[in-house]
Amino acid sequence: MEYDIHIIGGGLAGSEAAWQCARRGLKVRLSEMRGDAAGDRSPAHQTDALAEMVCSNSLRSDDHTANAVGLLHQEMRELGSLVMAAADKARVPAGSALAVDRDVFSAEIEAALAAQPTLTIVRERVDQLPDAGLTIISTGPLTGEALAGSIGEATGAGALAFFDAIAPIIHRDSIDMSVCWMASRWDKGETKDYINCPMTQEQYEAFHAALIAGEKTEFKEWEANTPYFDGCMPIEVMAERGIETLRFGPMKPVGLDNPHDATPEFPNGRWPYAVVQLRQDNKLGTLWNIVGFQTKLRHAEQIRIFRTIPGLENAEFARLGGLHRNTFLNSPTLLDRQLRLKSHPHIRFAGQITGCEGYVESAAVGLLAGLMASAEATSREWQSPPRTTALGGLLAHITGDAEAETYQPMNINFGLFPPIAATNTNGKKLRKPDRKLAYTQRAKADLLAWIGSVAL
Ligand SMILES: Cc1cc2nc3c(=O)[nH]c(=O)nc-3n(C[C@H](O)[C@H](O)[C@H](O)COP(=O)(O)OP(=O)(O)OC[C@H]3O[C@@H](n4cnc5c(N)ncnc54)[C@H](O)[C@@H]3O)c2cc1C
Repeated sequence: MEYDIHIIGGGLAGSEAAWQCARRGLKVRLSEMRGDAAGDRSPAHQTDALAEMVCSNSLRSDDHTANAVGLLHQEMRELGSLVMAAADKARVPAGSALAVDRDVFSAEIEAALAAQPTLTIVRERVDQLPDAGLTIISTGPLTGEALAGSIGEATGAGALAFFDAIAPIIHRDSIDMSVCWMASRWDKGETKDYINCPMTQEQYEAFHAALIAGEKTEFKEWEANTPYFDGCMPIEVMAERGIETLRFGPMKPVGLDNPHDATPEFPNGRWPYAVVQLRQDNKLGTLWNIVGFQTKLRHAEQIRIFRTIPGLENAEFARLGGLHRNTFLNSPTLLDRQLRLKSHPHIRFAGQITGCEGYVESAAVGLLAGLMASAEATSREWQSPPRTTALGGLLAHITGDAEAETYQPMNINFGLFPPIAATNTNGKKLRKPDRKLAYTQRAKADLLAWIGSVAL
């Protein structure tokens, strides 16, 4: 074999992974289908440029003291990220956000990769998982059909999820538990697994009307033919089917005694008119998703309407709902802690196909995959970054800490970090800005200690 590592897919993740391997002197083949003789292209990409940003031109907040994605930027810079170096060069004014000229961004990346003597960029579509050799698959949410089929075969029927809807996720500490309560329906099981938000008839009817009137995002042409799976019907589409549909569906109140509404006659509390339930989304218990609330409402509308739910008036959203075609693995069950397919350990995955969400997160997972593959190719022991860092928290989430059953694409956010116990001088829990600062300071110190202790 004339190369050490084969990287398939030259998007955000594959370009970053290729850079990390090549700058360590490894021989890399980077296969990218766009620009091949057949004119292959995904439904969203518009050019043949490497690392094309398919939609917005923003890498989101660059504030590394108070924002999780800004912190991820900074950690990637510490590790010599090509994506971040190109973004810094291609930067356009956008306040505290890092927005870029997308053409300059891609050109910077392509030029830096082309200048690597041990890296070969090949414009070819790959249809099968390679049988042998260190491989990184970074073909993104719109992976070519034949390769997606090959991945499906290797991972088992149904393991490659075709995702069409996501529900919002909320930070646990922003939920008002003086209004909500913990319970499972009919008190089934030994634990009270759900957070329940009660609604009166009046509140329910107003909420139902707001869902129907709320502004929705339009389908892209190529998404229009994607059918909904019945279990993933957007909440507003359900609402349109009739006033009672939600009360007999995800907002069903039966079997849920509200202890805040106890009377001598009902000492355990009464059933509300309707209930919104939240289910734990990560092992730390810091993130909770709203059950059955996948939605195509515009983001600002989601925040406005979902904050009318009793107990969620001050909800902080770790991720908002959305609806688009996507392909991703159930990584918590299929991948090991080094992003390798458990059943075929010569294959590693990187980027959005692992179930991270966003340009920055995809590039970050590409960076990690590149470092891991480089270590493996040179028989060096790998140690993952601490999970108190943005890179470590994201990696831990993907590779086992997220709940496999409800696994959905995830942006970086402070809910993926182990909670911080810090208090102020009065012994009180830190307020939000100070808490965020405490998270980022801990992450920076831990990342530097990790860099100092491992051979990268
Ligand atoms: C329509 C859409 C809009 C999005 N908008 C945003 C946004 O605004 N902001 C944001 O942060 N995130 C957005 N995302 C999510 C995500 O961040 C991007 O998709 C991101 O580009 C993912 O990076 P990636 O490297 O995993 O995949 P990609 O950047 O998509 O790269 C995958 C590469 O693999 C190539 N490829 C695919 N199959 C094959 C094959 N068989 N052989 C060879 N090459 C192959 C593709 O041509 C592509 O170049 C969007 C996603 C989609 C689908």
